Amino acid sequence: MTWRATVLTLFPDMFPGPLGVSLAGKALASGLWSLEARDIRDSATDRHRSVDDTPAGGGPGMVLRADVLAAAIDAADAGQDRPHLLMSPRGRPLTQSLVAELAVGPGPLIVCGRFEGVDQRVIEARNLEEVSIGDYVLSGGEIAAMALIDACVRLLPGVMGKQASGEDESFSEGLLEYPQFTRPQEFEGRGIPEILISGDHAKVAAWRKAEAEALTRVRRPDLWAARPGQNATKNKTDG
Ligand code: SAM
Repeated sequence: MTWRATVLTLFPDMFPGPLGVSLAGKALASGLWSLEARDIRDSATDRHRSVDDTPAGGGPGMVLRADVLAAAIDAADAGQDRPHLLMSPRGRPLTQSLVAELAVGPGPLIVCGRFEGVDQRVIEARNLEEVSIGDYVLSGGEIAAMALIDACVRLLPGVMGKQASGEDESFSEGLLEYPQFTRPQEFEGRGIPEILISGDHAKVAAWRKAEAEALTRVRRPDLWAARPGQNATKNKTDG
């Protein structure tokens, strides 16, 4: 079965957007995955096609209505067993391991919030898992959904070429990626590390691993501390 992303949005014209070009776009065109962007407004029931209302308890902005959103979810996905996600700044952080989980199976249904957010009752009633792409607030969930879909699509079988596998990339072993170099051999007085042009594959691999570890330790102490075995090593050193 082809991996499929279904996006519920007030702005379906934003899709495929950047997902229609380059790696993801080629894979979409060749049928390695599919994308459906559905307009939440099609599930509105009044003549103004309203989807939002003022927040209970007062306060600024508008809130996406539970009944309209529930109807949109049901119309898109009646009874199908697939992840139901809501893009949300208060959600579970999107990590490479969550991406890898979502890239297997049928593919998710993704709700894109707008305004002040979504009525809590539909989150609970439709088991929406909230997913965040970072600690900042976007004006809508569409760009967040695109980031999630793009990260999943590149892991689908046949999408990345043989050479560019995900195995060596940032986060694949809980590490950031080592520095990359290519021609020219010299750029503004800076050369390429000798070891990378030595032809000694074992030494190249060791250099890359050491660089990845050093970068991770300095730039992302949180990732470094979370690597398996780190606590044991730390305790030994401390003790
Ligand atoms: N009032 C909300 C809050 O303070 O958490 C922010 C709502 S935001 C303006 C509108 C929509 O953008 C959200 O419902 C969500 O779908 C999306 N969004 C904003 N930031 C996001 C993030 N960091 N990750 C995922 N989705 C985000």
